[in-house]
Amino acid sequence: MRFILLCTLLLIASPLQAAERLNVVASFSILADFVRNVGGDRINLTTLVGADGDVHVYTPTPSDAKRIADAKLVIVNGLGLEGWLPRLVQSAGSKAKVVTASAGITPLKLGAAADPHAWQSIPNAKIYVTDIANALAAAAPDDAEFFRAQASAYLEKLETLDREVRQAVVKIPPERRKVISTHDAFGYFSSEYGIRFIAPLGVSTETEPSARDIAAIISQIKAARIPAVFLENISDDRLIRRIAAETGAKVGGTLISDGLTGEKGLAPTYIDMVRHNIKALTSALDH
Ligand SMILES: [Zn+2]
Repeated sequence: MRFILLCTLLLIASPLQAAERLNVVASFSILADFVRNVGGDRINLTTLVGADGDVHVYTPTPSDAKRIADAKLVIVNGLGLEGWLPRLVQSAGSKAKVVTASAGITPLKLGAAADPHAWQSIPNAKIYVTDIANALAAAAPDDAEFFRAQASAYLEKLETLDREVRQAVVKIPPERRKVISTHDAFGYFSSEYGIRFIAPLGVSTETEPSARDIAAIISQIKAARIPAVFLENISDDRLIRRIAAETGAKVGGTLISDGLTGEKGLAPTYIDMVRHNIKALTSALDH
């Protein structure tokens, strides 16, 4: 009798526990990292664009529609980053609340449109995290205190990270705080921390630069006395070496902007990503 009762309790208890946890979908890896730090094991988190994926050009799969349909909250960056998302939410017939994590920040422009890469400023990331905590707390009031405690512990880590970045930048002589980069994702970083990101003149970020492009970059580096270049779309080592030899500029490593790497990569978390970037920048710019 006691055995039967125990079995019945187990049968009832386990599906309930799974169902009680809040189903949350995050659009891409960086947001998912924020959500995970706040939600911990009290939520079921799914990420649409995972490690090493490109959130700008994602094509949703049928299983994404299912995940959205089952979700209570869908957390997105907004500012035009996930152009593919509104249709996905609509076609999934989802009743999920869509939370725009960037809603509290002051947007910058990228060309004529809003620049979506707001997370590259740590003060902005803190606004994201606070708003995510509020959204989780509103969706699962029983866990509200847990979410707020998790968020405040994580916000402290972000505060420390922000200090690290500022201390690293202060050590770079002011006239050296500029790089040529094909990334257009560092506008917020640049305006927050004062390292200028200058686009190489006339070079498309999509294609491999020609010899003429390289000559133009070389004159640009010399004219503006730019101490370092981050040209990740140039795969030809000879071109890189030519730039370094003719200008004396350092050729920096990889900067990570729009998504995290897998566990074994350079940046499995947001904090790792920021530390990786600031290290790459300071080792190219310090003197
Ligand atoms: Zn981007």
